[in-house]
Amino acid sequence: MTDLQEFINQTTRLPTPPAIALKILEAVRSDEINFEELADIVMADPVLTAQVLKVANSSLYSLPKQVTSLSQATGLLGTQTLKNIALSFVIVDSFKDIPQGGFDLDLFWKRSISTAVSAKTLAKKTGIADEDIFITALLQDIGILIFFLVDAPAFTEMLDKNRITGKRFYEAEKDQFGFDHTELGSHLLKSWNLPETIYNPIRYHHTSETFDNQHGPAQLLNISDKISSIYHSSQSNKKFAEVHNSLAKNFGVEHEQIDELIDSIGEKAREVMGLFAVDPGEMKPFSQLMQEANDELRRLNFSYEQVVLELKQAKQTAEQLALNLKEANDKLRKLAFRDDLTGLYNHRYFQEILEAEIQRSIRYKHSVSLLLLDVDFFKRVNDTYGHPAGDHVLRQVSLKMAKLVRHCDIVARYGGEEFAIILPEIKKSGAKVLAQRIRRGIEQLELTINSQQLKITVSVGVSSTDDIEGVKDARPALISNADQALYTAKRNGRNRVEI
Ligand code: GH3
Ligand code: MG
Ligand code: MG
Repeated sequence: MTDLQEFINQTTRLPTPPAIALKILEAVRSDEINFEELADIVMADPVLTAQVLKVANSSLYSLPKQVTSLSQATGLLGTQTLKNIALSFVIVDSFKDIPQGGFDLDLFWKRSISTAVSAKTLAKKTGIADEDIFITALLQDIGILIFFLVDAPAFTEMLDKNRITGKRFYEAEKDQFGFDHTELGSHLLKSWNLPETIYNPIRYHHTSETFDNQHGPAQLLNISDKISSIYHSSQSNKKFAEVHNSLAKNFGVEHEQIDELIDSIGEKAREVMGLFAVDPGEMKPFSQLMQEANDELRRLNFSYEQVVLELKQAKQTAEQLALNLKEANDKLRKLAFRDDLTGLYNHRYFQEILEAEIQRSIRYKHSVSLLLLDVDFFKRVNDTYGHPAGDHVLRQVSLKMAKLVRHCDIVARYGGEEFAIILPEIKKSGAKVLAQRIRRGIEQLELTINSQQLKITVSVGVSSTDDIEGVKDARPALISNADQALYTAKRNGRNRVEI
C-alpha cells in the first residue's frame, strides 16, 4: 500500500491526531488497558471528562443509574468502552475545524454519528457484541473525509462524474484514486495505532456484501449506514425498504419491531449529536419520515383510485357505445327489412319470409297461404289529391291491414300500391275468409283528404300451398298463382277476392 501511504503523506493538510488522542491511543495500545492511566489522560481535560460522562449517562448505554465519575462509568461500562467514547470525541473534534469548501462537514458528522448510534443499538439488539462498534461505525467513512482533505479538486471531480455514471461511491473512488475510502480509512486508522477490531470492519464495510460470519461487524456497519441514510439521504423511502428487508433477512429482526427500532435510533442519534456539539439541523424525526412515506403511499393509492375510476368511466362509455351500436344496428335492421313509407316489411324481406314459411310448411306438413292485394284505381287518388295524399292513403291502408291480420301473419309492401300478406298455417279456405275480412275492412276504412271523405277498395288474389303440392319451386308458383288471381279479381270488377 505504498500508493496509499504516499497519498496520505503528500499533504500537510491532513490533521494529525491531537496530543490527547495520541496519549489515549498509547495508553490503550497495551493489551491490558489500565484504567488509572486512561482516567488520568481524560481527566486532564475537564471538557472531555464532562463529554464522556454525558455519553455514559445518555440513552445509548441506558445505565441503571446516573454516573458522576469516570471510575463509576468504568465500573459499569468497562475501560475499553470508556476509551472509545473519549477517542470518539477527540477524533471528531480534531476533524471539525478544517477547511470546508464544497464538503458538507456537518452532514458528514451527522451521518457518522447516526451510523454509530445505529450500529451500537443493533449490536445490542442482535447480540453481535462488540465494544468497539460505536467508534468503528463513527469512523467508517473517515476515508471520504481524507480524500477531500488531501485532494479536494479530484474528489469534487469524482463527485461530478459519479452524478452522471450513478456508480457505487466506492467504485467511483477506485476509478479516480486507485483505492477507495474503506482502504484509505482503515490504513489511516491503522497508522494511528487503532486496533484491528476497528480498522478491519471499516476495510470491509462495502465489500462484505456476502455477509459471512467473519465480517459480522462489517455487516453491521453496512446496515447502519443504510439506517443513517433514512434520516440523512434524499432517498429515504428507498433506503427504508432496503433496511426493512436486510434487518429481517440478515439480522432476524421482526418486521413489526423495525419501525420502532429505527425510531429509537433516530431519537438517540439526535441526543448524541448534541453531546458532540453537532447540530442535528433538519434531521427529521422518524414519525415525520413515516408520515411522508404514508403521504407518498396515499398519493400512490390516490392515483390507483384514479385509474380505477377512469377504467370505470371507460367501461361505462364502452357500454354506452355498445348500446348506441345496438340501437343503430336495430335501426339498420329495420331499414333493411322495413319499408320507409308504410313501416311494413319490404319486398326483399317478404321474399325471405315467404321462402322460410314454405320450407317450414313442408317440414311440418301444413299449409301456407298468400294474399296479393292491389289498391283499386289508385292512380286517380294521386291524380285528384296529389302524390302526398296518395302516400297518406297508402300508410292508412297499411295500418288497417296490419290491424286486420293475426299476430303471426306477415304484411309486406310488395311494391307501389301492391301489398302481400303471408298467412302461415292457413289453408285455402281459411285464407279466403281472411282475405274477405281484409277487403271489407279496407272498404269500410274512413279516409279524409282535404276534409273530403274518400273510399278505397282493394282487389285480392289468394293462393295456397294446398294447390302446388310437389311443385319444385313453390315460392314463384305461389306468387304467380296469387298474381293471376289478383288479375282475375281486377278483371271481374275489383274490390273482390279471387282464388
Ligand atoms: P288498378 O285499379 O288497375 O290497380 O288501377 P291503379 O290506378 O291503382 O293502377 P296503376 O298501376 O295504373 O297505378 C298505380 C299508381 O300507384 C301509379 C303510381 O304513381 C302510384 N304509386 C305507386 N307507388 C306510389 C307511392 O309510393 N306513392 C304514391 N302516392 N303513389 C304511388
Ligand atoms: Mg298496381
Ligand atoms: Mg292499383
